[in-house]
Amino acid sequence: MTVEKVVLAAPRGFCAGVEKAIKALDWMTRVFEPPVYCYHEIVHNQFVVDHFKSLGVVFIDDVADVPPGSPVMLSAHGSPPEVVETARLSGGTVIDAVCPLVTKVHHELKVRARKGYTILYVGHEGHEEAVGTMAVAPDSVHLIQSTRDIDELKGSEGPYALLSQTTLSMSEWQDLREHAEKVFPEIWMPNRSDLCFATTNRQAALTAIAASADAVIVIGSANSSNTVALSKVAEAAGCKRVLRVNGAFELPSDLSGIVAVTAGASAPESLVNEVLEFLNPVNGVEISSVTVEDEYFPPPPELREMLKTLSAVLDLALNAGAISTFDGQADREFTAAQVLSSVSR
Ligand code: SF4
Repeated sequence: MTVEKVVLAAPRGFCAGVEKAIKALDWMTRVFEPPVYCYHEIVHNQFVVDHFKSLGVVFIDDVADVPPGSPVMLSAHGSPPEVVETARLSGGTVIDAVCPLVTKVHHELKVRARKGYTILYVGHEGHEEAVGTMAVAPDSVHLIQSTRDIDELKGSEGPYALLSQTTLSMSEWQDLREHAEKVFPEIWMPNRSDLCFATTNRQAALTAIAASADAVIVIGSANSSNTVALSKVAEAAGCKRVLRVNGAFELPSDLSGIVAVTAGASAPESLVNEVLEFLNPVNGVEISSVTVEDEYFPPPPELREMLKTLSAVLDLALNAGAISTFDGQADREFTAAQVLSSVSR
């Protein structure tokens, strides 16, 4: 195998929402004795999930499985209101790691439903984010996955609103949006689409390099919606060979020429480095950047309060001169990649 050059997309990999969720779960494992429970995979990546399993985190798909009084974290994808309620009733500490950009869609949906809209929600059936969002107003919302789903709503009572999952491919969103606008010319939608900045930035970065590559490698899990969207983007750009892999161990040995590499928003950079090492390009790695992301999402409010209280108690216990409460700076001083690479704690 002789790979001539690798073109590495930027941005790629962890987004601000994933950084927030991984670091929040890390804080939980530092504060509580195991087991800490996590409702659904904290983010859709097996490497990340395995890391936390090794620290005693138990991942569950039914929040009723949390023993009374145990600490529980809710995943970055957002949870149905009844799940949040059930978790809170279990009596333990509950930290919701939902990404604020998913919360924004929950809010839009709640407001439109209250105003009597019929809501068309473009999303993928069964994906945690779609399930959690639609559960906010189940009687007002319809899942849209095709133009036919839109057509079937002709004749239903207006006004209409159009919302979406944050991680769709641009073309999927555009096609369905245009069709919805044709069928329902007065349809309401947010000024900016619900596709998040991380989704659109990663797709723009890959679009810029995919067409001229002999192969595109997308690193990320099959159940990661934004990862799958990246594969679709590379195919739509005209690349004949698009490989979605969980890591270097899944790469074929016949790659050659120019290889473009990217990673979904929940894939750690360590997996990217392993892929680059495997490809070992003769003429090195060129980074192709379309923008620089500097978004930072602070820890969930309940976690911030808990850490503030703990740091104050610790200061008192250690007889420190002044109480230096947790001000959020501590969270900025490490990254999710460092969390995943820490061998000793
Ligand atoms: S992909 Fe977008 S919506 Fe999902 S966690 Fe990242 S920033 Fe939030």
